[in-house]
Amino acid sequence: MDKLWAPWRIDYVSRKKQKNCIFCHAFKEKKDKKNFVVLRSKYCFAILNTYPYNNGHVLIVPNRHLKSMEDLKEEELLDMNKTLIKIKSTLKKILDPQGFNIGINIGKVAGAGIANHIHTHIVPRWLGDVNFMPIIANTKVISQSLKELYTKLIKNL
Ligand SMILES: [Zn+2]
Repeated sequence: MDKLWAPWRIDYVSRKKQKNCIFCHAFKEKKDKKNFVVLRSKYCFAILNTYPYNNGHVLIVPNRHLKSMEDLKEEELLDMNKTLIKIKSTLKKILDPQGFNIGINIGKVAGAGIANHIHTHIVPRWLGDVNFMPIIANTKVISQSLKELYTKLIKNL
């Protein structure tokens, strides 16, 4: 894995030590470009996953620090779903994937990296993309940089 170009891993290691919730931090800091926040809605925001499973991996995050789906109010659920659809359509437009995985990982056992602040994943998929996924490490070479993706999304949202 030494030869894999994965500069985000360095950041990942240092961020892991951060005690504060990265979503709450991104929400409060209001430095959207720095934090890769692509869209803010009334009850939620959309942020690029800086440790993506695939190119175009976006997270929909409620503004409130909530652990479980049951705590979401109706207006938050609606806003999150509307934002999800908006992001999905924009990703389709700019990246033209053949499919999407959309879902929530609940609990660390299910792969939730930030288990205390619920969020929905949108992962674009292309035929054969799994062939490029490393089997052991949870990193992969991303064909398009996050900054490039950020700019593209912002322009099209
Ligand atoms: Zn939080």
